[in-house]
Amino acid sequence: MKEFDYIIIGGGCAGLSLAYELDLHSKLKDKTLAIVEPREEYKKDKTWSFWKVLPHNFEDCIKKSWDNFTINIPSHLKHIDCKNMPYQTIDSGLFYQKIIDKIKQNTNINFFKNINEVNTENSFIFNSVSDTVDNKSSLWQHFSGIEIETSKHFFDEKIFNLMDFDCDQKNSVHFFYTLPFSKTKALIETTWISDLNNTSLKDYDIQLKDYIENKLKIKNYKINYKETGAIPLFHPNNIKKINQIEIGTAGGMTRLSTGYTFLNIQEQSKYIRENIENIKDTKIFSIKKKYEFLDNIFLKVLKKNPERMAQIFYKMFNGSPKTVINFLSNKSNILEDISIISKMPKFVFLKQLF
Ligand SMILES: Cc1cc2nc3c(=O)[nH]c(=O)nc-3n(C[C@H](O)[C@H](O)[C@H](O)COP(=O)(O)OP(=O)(O)OC[C@H]3O[C@@H](n4cnc5c(N)ncnc54)[C@H](O)[C@@H]3O)c2cc1C
Repeated sequence: MKEFDYIIIGGGCAGLSLAYELDLHSKLKDKTLAIVEPREEYKKDKTWSFWKVLPHNFEDCIKKSWDNFTINIPSHLKHIDCKNMPYQTIDSGLFYQKIIDKIKQNTNINFFKNINEVNTENSFIFNSVSDTVDNKSSLWQHFSGIEIETSKHFFDEKIFNLMDFDCDQKNSVHFFYTLPFSKTKALIETTWISDLNNTSLKDYDIQLKDYIENKLKIKNYKINYKETGAIPLFHPNNIKKINQIEIGTAGGMTRLSTGYTFLNIQEQSKYIRENIENIKDTKIFSIKKKYEFLDNIFLKVLKKNPERMAQIFYKMFNGSPKTVINFLSNKSNILEDISIISKMPKFVFLKQLF
């Protein structure tokens, strides 16, 4: 069996982002890399969105970028300007294509379908496959989205809707999310924050049909694409292994209160690339501890008081857009943290501390 200097387990978002970053910065000129990925073919399977608070390698995979968004609860709508930190959407199909096209030119990079095909003994491993993703009773952000095309102009493509809480909450936390790519095309998602045991929340197709036809009042449309997923709002507990670090979702790159992961993965890839020569002795990259602390309180509040969450999310967006975007993208300073915390209902949050 062949030996490699590095092995990446899982050629998804984190695995490929890291391989691309290493290749781009010529870190694989004299080193070999095996990527272990079971999928037969790469095709669009996700739409990654985030506020651009950092530069990244995938500007040419952006499907659409917005400078404005809305959030609403019943009878209240807020418009928010994010010109300085645009909200970007990446098409995973373009992302996979760009990376595969680039790395296949490097003969030091090889793909395998199964870890048993490579000798792992003397390699350094970057693992993006979680041990504990079947934890159904913890909180998850689970959702399904369809990209629809309307026969007439319907959408305002300059503004997206981050959260529409004006919908059935079923004693849980539920919102719709709409990304208008053009006047006739949009991705519409139904999103829940709950455990995964309650199957009554998972009739996503019915929820989407009802929202599109009865709330948005669109009657003539076709569905071009569908994505369904669940993001764990807890950090998987992978067993620590010598000469191995976890990356991506498995490496704790998900922001627990929001599910945003993509840009954290890019930051992690850059950090690993900068430290690759000394990776065995390098401190593990993580999202700052203060966010884990605050997010865990937030999720406890959410679990105990789902009926209050629409209002709490809505209130978070009172005040400066820069502050809330920095906070949600884990880039806030202490004053911004205080500003966000001060908008939360004190008693409900304090109760979860003890
Ligand atoms: C549908 C969807 C939409 C999302 N949208 C957003 C978003 O808008 N913004 C955002 O910030 N985050 C988003 N996320 C969260 C996060 O960015 C993605 O889940 C992202 O793909 C995580 O990257 P990853 O590499 O950790 O996992 P993945 O991209 O899932 O990669 C893991 C890879 O491991 C492979 N694999 C599985 N088992 C094995 C095995 N035994 N051996 C080897 N390989 C294996 C899989 O085939 C896969 O390719 C979304 C998640 C989903 C599911």
